Amino acid sequence: PHDLSRHDLDDILGTINDEARQRFGEGKVADYIPSLADVPADRFGMALALPDGTVHACGDARERFSIQSVSKVFTLTLALEAIGDDLWKRVDREPSGDPFNSLVQLEYEKGIPRNPFMNAGALVTADVVLSSFDDAEATLLDFMRARSGNPEVGSDDVVARSERKSGYRNVAMANFIRSYDNLHNDVQQVLDFYYLQCALRMDCVDLARSVQYLADAGRCASSGVQVTSAEGATRINSVMMTAGTYDAAGDFAYYVGLPAKSGVGGGIVAVVPHVMGLCVWSPALDEKGNSLLGRYALHRLTRMTGLSVF
Ligand code: GLN
Repeated sequence: PHDLSRHDLDDILGTINDEARQRFGEGKVADYIPSLADVPADRFGMALALPDGTVHACGDARERFSIQSVSKVFTLTLALEAIGDDLWKRVDREPSGDPFNSLVQLEYEKGIPRNPFMNAGALVTADVVLSSFDDAEATLLDFMRARSGNPEVGSDDVVARSERKSGYRNVAMANFIRSYDNLHNDVQQVLDFYYLQCALRMDCVDLARSVQYLADAGRCASSGVQVTSAEGATRINSVMMTAGTYDAAGDFAYYVGLPAKSGVGGGIVAVVPHVMGLCVWSPALDEKGNSLLGRYALHRLTRMTGLSVF
């Protein structure tokens, strides 16, 4: 295992923060809904959460943002805990090589999405969560509050409503999957749950704490709860490595070398297995929908510390 005591984590974060801020201006903020388009591009924050509950943070690590597809990690965890390996009968776990909102593989794979992190797979995962809990929305909110240790975590109704208004592609996808009987709840109900999860507002410290269980064999330091088994954590990390950043997963493995999950709000969570959970946020995205400076920061972190899993 890595010996973190060799590194001054605050010093490293300070360096990365300075470097990232010199690169403001690169990339483009998501503009498919007004509440994301209005977020200033010149923001950068990063937080590291260790299994002993310690957090190191820099920059805008306490500014909340729309977590978007980062939420797919948590619904995957809930779905796997609820139905175990049966989930894999309804969604595959292969990297896609296609953009996050792609529909192209769904027809020849008969409504079985390629992985739970593309939108199609996240819709099936949302459907499983809806079927598994009496009040799925409350279950997800409770889960996020317990993982982050922040009772104020909530979902932004304005964002959720705009997602609903502009979600033509997600509507098409959900109906297409439904035509193969791979959604069991009402299509609109599945979409609304998906928009609620995407619209969660959290900051880097919240999210670093929230993925920390994936770095400590399933045990959450904020709540002391065993969220998933050690094997569960290993498996979720493996899917994040191969599919968490969509058609950039190869590049992320190459330059960053950590399981990671991005969202179009500019957040990326990552896991150094057995060492820490982390989150970086900067709203401007690259052409594949991943935070440009987020990726840069993760690359710098693993270069400076040698913490790549490879
Ligand atoms: N709400 C977005 C969508 O469904 C989430 C996508 C993302 O963060 N990659 O298109």
